Amino acid sequence: MSRRADRCLSQKPRGECPGASPCGHSPDVREETAMHDHRKLGRELGLFDTDPLIGAGLPYWLPDGAAVRHTLEEYIRTAERRAGYRHVYSPVLGKRELYEISGHWSHYSDDMFPPMDLGGEQVVLRPSLCPHHAVIYRSRSHSYRELPLRMAELGGMYRSELSGVLGGLTRVRAIQLNDAHIFCTIDQVAEEAQAALEMIRQAYEALGISPTRYRLSLPGPGGKYVAAPEMWQRSTALLTEVLDRSGLPYEAAEGESAFYGPKIDVQVTDGAGRESTLSTVQVDFHQPEQFDLHYIGPDGAKHRPVMVHRSIIGSVERAVAHLIEQHGGAFPAWLAPTQLVILPISEAEMPNAAALAQRCTDLGLRAEIAGPEHGTLGARIRQARLVPYQAVIGAKEAADDHVALRLRDGRRLDPQPANDVLTRIGALVDAHSTDLWDSAAS
Ligand SMILES: [Zn+2]
Repeated sequence: MSRRADRCLSQKPRGECPGASPCGHSPDVREETAMHDHRKLGRELGLFDTDPLIGAGLPYWLPDGAAVRHTLEEYIRTAERRAGYRHVYSPVLGKRELYEISGHWSHYSDDMFPPMDLGGEQVVLRPSLCPHHAVIYRSRSHSYRELPLRMAELGGMYRSELSGVLGGLTRVRAIQLNDAHIFCTIDQVAEEAQAALEMIRQAYEALGISPTRYRLSLPGPGGKYVAAPEMWQRSTALLTEVLDRSGLPYEAAEGESAFYGPKIDVQVTDGAGRESTLSTVQVDFHQPEQFDLHYIGPDGAKHRPVMVHRSIIGSVERAVAHLIEQHGGAFPAWLAPTQLVILPISEAEMPNAAALAQRCTDLGLRAEIAGPEHGTLGARIRQARLVPYQAVIGAKEAADDHVALRLRDGRRLDPQPANDVLTRIGALVDAHSTDLWDSAAS
């Protein structure tokens, strides 16, 4: 199977096996793969599932999975707003002509769903968000003072994957993409690409994941790339400068670029040792030309902007699949579907447990009660082993409005006021920390 390199934000795994365990835990590869298969874990943990009646490659998200996805999407939107991006919504369909102009139709139609005939015209499920964003940019005139103009969207896109390669969340036909396009002058490209790399670094830190490697993805032989040698030289030089200045180690790889330009790809490795692209930063001179984009310069004349395409976490599906495998289901507290499980020792403490759960909800924390009807305290603690925080309430704690907190890593803290515990958990969650407890604050 050959991999097409002509999409905006490439997501296909390459089937490479670097021969290293991604988490560095177990030397037993078979055991590691079984433990870290996101499809198995996703079903066991009630995160997502599929049904043949809906179709292959079309997973649905269960409430716990939806909680993780929603939290991840909100993290991204907040990070983007802070970095000066404005969000848009655009339709998941477009006329065939839109993709003929963008170049997708001639370079990428094998991976697109067939067009639908509708009232004398043809519409297609979009294979990327870039053409819509280019048209949105073009809908208003822009001064050089507005640049860099950063447009972001967490939007749907579609890929006609063959059913034989589908499974779990990594090879899907309906994709939710964390996408953005920065319309800027050529002089602003390096700084914008650098800032995107920094956003990626911060997101990986919060998510507790690390890149396998950085890749400068260049065109290869064959006719699937836009033929414009000078354009390729300029954009490659810009991305090389960004990588060199960042001090990150990287490798150049031919045949991995988008059809319209080179990219920086951030590679991660799954539980089975397969490497794929999660995040990407791309420079594009082609689509601004195709859509005749311009801005009014200080000289009052029209100038062509450059498009920087970038994605912090790639597709939400792939990002969550990677997070499930990376953490074995034990997500960082801010991302966990249930952040706190409340364990009343007996029926007598159930009212206190309910009141504490309500306080959590009011604070924006996701809490569940596992009462004595679910078995012994020991059994309930084991059942909730992936939940970051376990708040045990016995008769003494109930009388004092205290909880005895247990952390997922096995630490047991002395009983302390419930409000203090919730405040400290809330602070760690708000900070997107991967630490379970701020020991310095005790
Ligand atoms: Zn794009």
